[in-house]
Formats: sequence, C-alpha cells, structure tokens
Amino acid sequence: MSSDKIDISESPFTPSPVLPTSFEGDKVIQFQCRKGIECWNACCSNIDIMLTPYDIIRLKKRLGMTSTEFLQTYTYPFEFGRNDIAGVKYKPVEGGTACQFMRPEGCSVYEDRPTACRYYPVALLSLRRADEFTDRQQYALVQESHCKGHFEPRSLTVDEYRKEQGLDEYDEHGRAWRQLILKKKSAGPTVGNASQRSLQLFFMACYDVDQFREFVMSPAFQDVYDIPAEEQAKWSDDLDMMNFGFRLIRQVLFNEMTIAMRPDAMERRLARKKEREAELDRIVEKLPTEEFVKPIPEEEKYDKYKFSDS
Ligand code: SF4
Ligand code: SF4
Repeated sequence: MSSDKIDISESPFTPSPVLPTSFEGDKVIQFQCRKGIECWNACCSNIDIMLTPYDIIRLKKRLGMTSTEFLQTYTYPFEFGRNDIAGVKYKPVEGGTACQFMRPEGCSVYEDRPTACRYYPVALLSLRRADEFTDRQQYALVQESHCKGHFEPRSLTVDEYRKEQGLDEYDEHGRAWRQLILKKKSAGPTVGNASQRSLQLFFMACYDVDQFREFVMSPAFQDVYDIPAEEQAKWSDDLDMMNFGFRLIRQVLFNEMTIAMRPDAMERRLARKKEREAELDRIVEKLPTEEFVKPIPEEEKYDKYKFSDS
C-alpha cells in the first residue's frame, strides 16, 4: 500500500474536504451509510457534484429524456483547469442547495446515481506522474463533520467498498474521459477562437451525446470524415457514440489521428468557405447602402438607453 501526499488539483471531482493523504484500494476504512442514521440525506442536502459522461448517459436514460433535455433541466456548465476544460455539475433545487433527486426516503435515482455519489466518502484521484505514461487510480478519504457514517462499526477495504457501490462499471466507462482531462491539463493552453471552439466541441462530445450524434450524422461532418458504415451503425448505442466522441477530441485537440478523413476534405471545405464569402461580398455590393445605412440623427442615438417609466 502506498501513502502519498496528494495534489488535490489533479482530481477530476470536487475534492474538498479531502484528507491530504492518498492510498490504494487495499486501504481499510471504517464506514457505513444506512437508512435511519441520524445524518440521513445530509450529504444530498448541500451538493457540489460533477458528472461524468457516463453518469449523464445513465441518468438521461433512466429519466427518459435526451441528453440535451437532461443537461438543461438538471445541470449547469462550468470551466476548470486553466478555464479551457468544460465540466458539468448538478443544478440544485431552485433557490436551495439540495439535489433535485433527493427524497425523504433517499435517492430517487439510486440505481443510476452518479460516480461521485457512489464513491462518497472516498474521493477518486486519477493521477499521472511525470515519469509515467498512464494514469493510476488512487483514493483519499472525505471526512465531513455532518457525516456520521465514519462512526459506524463496519470496516472494509476501498476495493470492497467500490464493489459494493457498483463502481467497476462506472470507472471503466469513466476512464477515457478522465485521461482526456489529464491530457488536456498537461497540454499547453489554447487561446482565442480555438479555445472557444475546443471548449464547445469538448462539451458536446463529452456531455451531450444526442446532440453529438446529430452533429456526426450531418452532411458537413460526413463530408470531412470517412467513417465505415459498420462503425456508424454502432452510433445508435450511447456508449459507442461517447467513445467515438473521445477519439474525435483526441484527434482534433492532440493530433492523435484515428479517424480517417476524406482526401481533399480540408481543401474542399476552404473552397466552400471562400465561395460563401464571395457570395456574401456579391450580395453586399448589390445592397442599396444609402437607403439601408441611413445615419442616425444625433438626438435619436441614445433612444434605446432612455429610461421610460410609462
Ligand atoms: S443523485 Fe442521489 S445520491 Fe446523489 S446527491 Fe442526488 S439524491 Fe444524493
Ligand atoms: S452517513 Fe454520510 S453518506 Fe450516509 S446519509 Fe449520512 S451524510 Fe450521507
């Protein structure tokens, strides 16, 4: 078992208040959460929960909505890293801090609750050392004063706790996303327009799987990328779509070329762009500018800022 000082900023999840020591899965912890405990629902009453792409797929499926609808109703976007990595957090109840899925009897989406809820009070740290090429999972303990589960007489290893919480599946489907975040954190910052576009692509591909599906099926995308029909047939499956999204991000942001592009795709795209610009120029030339660009009289310039109490 190793015991390292941890760099909390490396965790893809909200890490506070994490005890400042990390450990591996064989660490024994004392913990049990059970109905009837005096702090029942305390952890869900004041939330700060980041969602993984797989969490969103599980939840939107359970609620019978599209990822776009789910994101709008239950989440809000935020940026982290050097502010160029898009993330999604649970939106609490209107005017409060509690989770929208909290009920007096417990979690109303329990079987599909997100990774962070399953791990609690363990924090997952996806760490990569300078001399290592892949990340490795380490853990830390979150000890909040309101959580009385730490005083329950039950001891088990973190590995046993992960198994009990069904985390193998969540970690398996979350790994590619966590690695993407680590890679993006260690890459140089993107600036200006590129940063905005990469943020938008990252957001859509990672979190809005249904909108991403529409995007990759569009003629504009198909015109550039050459994807075999048998691969596209798998895109009806959300997990396959999600994993294709990770590949596309790695290709676009880190030049890891795994998706074939059509020959001359970029040239044709540029030519079309030029054609559109030329067409716009031709239209603008024909506009009777004197009529459309009438100077605004000085006395009317501030009309739209004028306060009116009528
Ligand atoms: S999803 Fe469930 S477990 Fe997680 S914060 Fe909400 S109510 Fe609590
Ligand atoms: S024991 Fe901890 S995890 Fe369980 S309900 Fe109480 S605060 Fe939440």
